[in-house]
Amino acid sequence: MTETSGSVDTPAAARSVGGVDAGTETESNKAARKRRRREPPPDPIPLPGLVDAHTHLAACGGRDAESVRAILDHAERVGVGQVVTVADDMVDARWAVEAAHWDRRAFAAVALHPTHAAELDDAAKAELEQMLADPRVVAVGETGLDHYWPGKSESCASPDAQAEAFRWHIDLAKRIGKPLMIHNREADRDLLDILAETTAPETVIMHCFSGDRNVARECVDRGFILSFAGTVSFANAAELRAAAELVPDDQILVETDAPFLTPHPYRGQPNQSYCLPYTARALAEVRGIDDIEMARILGDNARRVYRLPLQ
Ligand SMILES: [Zn+2]
Ligand SMILES: [Zn+2]
Repeated sequence: MTETSGSVDTPAAARSVGGVDAGTETESNKAARKRRRREPPPDPIPLPGLVDAHTHLAACGGRDAESVRAILDHAERVGVGQVVTVADDMVDARWAVEAAHWDRRAFAAVALHPTHAAELDDAAKAELEQMLADPRVVAVGETGLDHYWPGKSESCASPDAQAEAFRWHIDLAKRIGKPLMIHNREADRDLLDILAETTAPETVIMHCFSGDRNVARECVDRGFILSFAGTVSFANAAELRAAAELVPDDQILVETDAPFLTPHPYRGQPNQSYCLPYTARALAEVRGIDDIEMARILGDNARRVYRLPLQ
């Protein structure tokens, strides 16, 4: 990930150091850029049947039932009928489960994010297990490995703590029979090795897939689902597009990972589930198919993988 104006799933402390402008920029340029960054992208042309396979409703401004409804109403107006909201820590996990009960269009995924792996004590384990018994909680995630933040953020868990927590989440997904949703940042090899040696759960979702075509091929061969975010539409993402091209129809998902990773040409501006059609269309273009057909494939896959009820 090369994002400079805020990064994916970063601890709050680390997040605030992002977005530093180059010193050479004039004051008015800076002000204009700042203004643009706060501006939400315009609504895309609707693309029916989509599911946002990974978003963070709380970080998008969701606080209570009313604000969550407003975000989901907006998404639904452009064809995004269901979303999976993902937790990073225990406070976020409790909130995500609540949000999934406030609105029939929201489902939750809970786990301790790799950067928070050190918080996985017995109490957290018991509470996560209990949350996952809830039918509105459709996946164990996001878990995995993040080799980018250790050393850069003091609050980030060490690679060893991350690996240990990852193994526990893998086992949990297998025991409860729900999909494992994986966060991978600069940890391709270690992550694939742990999944191989522990035996992966039946359904593995590589959220915000960011690998090259070789990693994509290996994941596809192992039967994993690859979920693409706005990064696939970025100008410098040729290798990621090559990866998106080779994934079979039944192993591909689309997500926003909002509020970050807003698709091109709105990169750096605030992201929300309503922006998903931009990324779905980027995937349709990469794969050389009609956007309506692409949306049908992506939506059907999400409903199958997460076992979402029909609306
Ligand atoms: Zn992530
Ligand atoms: Zn995320």
